[in-house]
Order: sequence, then C-alpha cells, then structure tokens
Amino acid sequence: MNLSKSLYTKAIQCPKALWLKKYNKEVLTPPDATALARFETGNVVGELACKLFPNGKEVIFTPDDFNAMVEITKKWMDEGLEYIYEATFIYEGILVLVDVLKVTPDGLEIYEVKSSSSVKDIYLHDVSIQLYVLRELEYSVISSNVVHIDSKYVRGSELDLNELFKIVDVSDEVDALQVDIPAKLEEFEIYLADKENEPNIEIGSHCNKPYECDAKEYCWKIQRDIPEYSMFNIFNIGSKKQIELYERGIVKIEDIPDDYPMTAIQKQKVQNCKNQSTFIDKESIKKFLATLSYPIYHLDFETFQQAVPEWRGISPYQQIPFQYSLHIEHLDGTIEHKEFLGEDGVDPRYELTKSLVKDIPTDVIVLAYNMSFEKGVNAKLAESFFEFKNNLLSINENMKDLMFPFQKKYYVTPEMKGSYSIKYVLPSLVPKMEDAYKNLNGIQNGSDAMNAFPKLSSMSVEEKRETRVALLEYCKLDTLAMVEVLKKLKEVTDD
Ligand code: SF4
Repeated sequence: MNLSKSLYTKAIQCPKALWLKKYNKEVLTPPDATALARFETGNVVGELACKLFPNGKEVIFTPDDFNAMVEITKKWMDEGLEYIYEATFIYEGILVLVDVLKVTPDGLEIYEVKSSSSVKDIYLHDVSIQLYVLRELEYSVISSNVVHIDSKYVRGSELDLNELFKIVDVSDEVDALQVDIPAKLEEFEIYLADKENEPNIEIGSHCNKPYECDAKEYCWKIQRDIPEYSMFNIFNIGSKKQIELYERGIVKIEDIPDDYPMTAIQKQKVQNCKNQSTFIDKESIKKFLATLSYPIYHLDFETFQQAVPEWRGISPYQQIPFQYSLHIEHLDGTIEHKEFLGEDGVDPRYELTKSLVKDIPTDVIVLAYNMSFEKGVNAKLAESFFEFKNNLLSINENMKDLMFPFQKKYYVTPEMKGSYSIKYVLPSLVPKMEDAYKNLNGIQNGSDAMNAFPKLSSMSVEEKRETRVALLEYCKLDTLAMVEVLKKLKEVTDD
C-alpha cells in the first residue's frame, strides 16, 4: 500500500476521503484562498521552527524519487548529523517525512511542527504514524514532540523563537495510539484494494471534524441531494436527534414531524421554514431603536492575523485592524462617510487608532454588527496605545449592537434560515445589497479582505492600486448595509 502521513490522517478522518483522493480526485473541491493562505503560513512557520534546531540540513523534496530522499536521510544519520529537516523514511509503502529529526547517541527524537496554537488530536495521529514507521524500521525513538505557536507570546523589538514556539512532549499519547495502527492500516488497505467501488460511508460529524472535508460538496449535495438549508441546520450534526431523523430518511426541514421533540428555538426555526412566515416583534424593536440617538456612527473593522507577529506588541493570531469604514447617519437623514486603510508593510494600528479617535467623538452612539468583535479590537488597541485609551474605551461604552434584534428573534424571516448572521439577515431584509456585493470587484467578503491586505506589499503598483480601491469599496458597503438594515427596522415599526 502506498500511503503518506497526510493520507493516513485523511483516512483517520474518513476512509472514503482517502479513497476519493486516490481514485476520484475530480470530485474534490479545490482549496480556496483562505486555505491556500493557511498552507503558506504552515510553510513559513515550518521554516522558522527549523531555526530552533540549528545547523541541520534539509532533505530536498523530490516527489518523483522518494527513495533518494530516504537514502540521503540515511547517509546524514550515518554521518552523525544532529538535525535533519524533512527526514524521510518508508516502511512497506508508508512514507513519512519528519519535520525535524534529532539524532542523539541514545536514539531519535521526532519534532512535528504545526502553525496552530495548540496540540490537536489529529496531530497525535500524524506523529503516531511517524513513530510507527521508525519503530518498524527498528530505530529507537526516545521522544515524540509537537512544536506549535504560543499565542500568549507578545513580540518585542526582536522575534524570540524560543518564546514564539512551544514544544510539547507527546510521547505517551502517540505511544498509546500504536496498538491500533496495524488494524487501521489493514482497514485502509482493504478500501484501497477495491478501485472500482467507492467505500459506502455515511455522512456525519466527521465531515467537518477535524477539518471540513474537501468531498463535502460531492457526498452531501451531489450524492445525497442535501439542501443548503436542511435538517442538519436545525439539529447539531452527530446529535442523537439528527442521527435518528436521518435514519428515518428525513432531510428536508418540511419533513420534520410537527410533534417531534424539539427545543423552542428549533421549533421556531422549523415553523418559520414550513410556514414561510415572517415574525416581527414591533414593540421590542421599538425599544431597541429607542436606545439609539443621532448621530449614529456605523462602524466596521477589517482585520488580519499573523502566525508570526511582524511588529512589536503583537501576539500570534491577534486580530490586527488595518481598515475601517464609518457611515455617520444624522437625524435629518443625511449621511457622511469616513474611512481608513493602512499602508502596507507597516504596522497599521497606530495610524488607524489616531484616525478612529479623530473621526468618532466620545459621546456618540456607535453601531456595529456583532459588536463583541469591534469592542475586542478597540480594547486591544487601548492596551497598546495609552494616549488613545480613554477615547477607545468611551467608544466601547457607547457601542450598540445592530445584531441584537435579530439575535433576540424580534425579527425573523424564512430567508434568515434560523441565523442572525449579517450574511443571512442582509439579503433577507435588503435584497438589493446582495447584488451590490456581487458587483464588487475582487473583494467581496471579509475573508477576501483579510487575505488581500497582507499581499499588498508584493503586488505591482497597478495591482496594489486596484486592490486598495476594492478594499475601500468593500468595507464601505459593509457599513452602508448597516444603514440599510437600520432603515428597515425603522420602516417595519412605523405605525
Ligand atoms: S464528506 Fe464526509 S463522508 Fe464524504 S468523504 Fe468527506 S468525511 Fe467522508
């Protein structure tokens, strides 16, 4: 059997995913920009982590000749090299590349580098197959470790790799997994031996955990015709009730029996869908509107994260705001717009904060959609820039959440599909905005913006100019959408 460690972990999630990857790749969804950015981060972190283990040599990846990689690994081990990056081993067709192998007189140490900020269960399987192969090849392995990012690290003027990374000894955990590996490999081999017949494996919570499977479109939509909004959106995937309904062949929300035991929220979602009815609690919406006073400052931040913080005072994966849009709505209906977009290649936070506190007075109502995010960003800025602390904290004190009436179910439409996310609320309440987003050039959602900003520095002058315009247009539309949603709330409560 030919199996790499990444295919092994794929098969741990679902053997059908392994089979499809080997024999029917065409049905898999290609990685999107966010996934590609994650791979890129993985590479950067991997290279950086090697510096924790200095003076090693890297086995160059040659996909058409893995045996050559095995040979060079063996040669360097025989020569007594202490650290080998991408050390390569094959045992009965199972190929493993060890991120960092430490060769000591007492035995080998395995280091698996991950760009995440904790040790996840799937990483243990990843390391366990490396340990299995090395042991089967009769090497003595004295420790197995995961090297991951420590999100508590705060960068000083220099990057401190010993603080950025955490090394966790997982020897006991991966040892415990060894006993199951032969049976698992046997099971995977049986599936792979039958090239003609796809494994008959049901959908379930494993389709999303630990990763969203790239065969979901195929297994869920194409093979089983599961609608976009289905019974799976009402009941937690993998829950007793979800499994029971699925076994009864119930997938569409319309087919869920009225007397099926459900929580009040589940019942409401089902009824809204069945009746295609809209529910509006005018009194509660009016009370919410009464908490707002003009002028109203509609605020939205765009942020990005860095696994390896580039600037002083930033932690790994901290939300770094680089842009905001502000629509200022006055009592007489006039609207002003202000915005900020940071320069690329420099820490945008100081200039953004300076501009923000200039644009927002300390005594006005600030409206955000899902304000915990904007508040969290402001609180972090207040920690970093003492001179603006009071202004930022005042903005937070005056902040109201436009999501509140939807979260509280004061306004529910069938198109919201039981969600209060702006993604569902906006097209339901203000359909014209959906087209406005579709007509945007290049940046159409928060992920696009988050991926585009860090790339600005490597763009040509023209590409950079176009991307900056696209970023500004996108963020501007986000706060304009808030103005429209608020307008709709006022309209439906007008007696
Ligand atoms: S979508 Fe689910 S059932 Fe299909 S291959 Fe992936 S994990 Fe397996």
